Amino acid sequence: MQTAIEDIHTDLNIDNRTAKDTLRWALTTFGNKIGIASSFGAEDVVLIDMAVKINPAINIFTLDTGRLHRETYELIEEIQERYNINIEVRFPDNNRVKEMVETHGVNLFYQNSDMRKLCCRVRKIEPLLEKLKDLDAWVCGLRQEQSVTRTDIHKIETDQLNNIIKINPLADWTDQDVWTYIRKHNVPFNKLHERGYPSIGCEPCTRAISTCEEIRAGRWWWEEPEKKECGLHGRRN
Ligand code: SF4
Repeated sequence: MQTAIEDIHTDLNIDNRTAKDTLRWALTTFGNKIGIASSFGAEDVVLIDMAVKINPAINIFTLDTGRLHRETYELIEEIQERYNINIEVRFPDNNRVKEMVETHGVNLFYQNSDMRKLCCRVRKIEPLLEKLKDLDAWVCGLRQEQSVTRTDIHKIETDQLNNIIKINPLADWTDQDVWTYIRKHNVPFNKLHERGYPSIGCEPCTRAISTCEEIRAGRWWWEEPEKKECGLHGRRN
């Protein structure tokens, strides 16, 4: 896999391509074996807008953890209506959630980092892994400037954790690039962005931030910045 990635970098100069070109290349190359993972943040709606204009039948999926904001559910419906598409919604395993909640409580994530990671594993990672079994590549909205945990991401990577190729078309975009695109193309976005939430995850684990804080400061705000990933984006090459 690593050799294949290096060949792609060399042959296609992917890291120097625009987001749209990267996405077009990915959708064409992987056909029906690629999916766009969306949590309906600002980057995700940009990718949806770009992707649907390239291929209206592209598979777009989301993980419904059962703990999302009302505004996120409303946005899912708005996006489906706007683009006339069906978003594939993946859910956690009922028995896994039941066992976890009965053993550790419904808000276990506030107890400590291990409990938070367990909840993310059951509600996000396990459903994602099930979905990725069907794919050769997936597309994410990760950007280098989002946090200290994301400064080294590339537009194409080997996702060693999940053993497939991962495409990050917006890797080198700034926050301003994202919002310029959204305004220019009138893309629907999560209303929470206008209330101090630049990064949106599950409702109990996301808070609004002040203008002097970094973008992901409101995610799992009780944890150290270096630990603030849910595990969906394990280290890659
Ligand atoms: S973000 Fe919070 S509620 Fe959502 S899966 Fe992770 S720990 Fe659970």
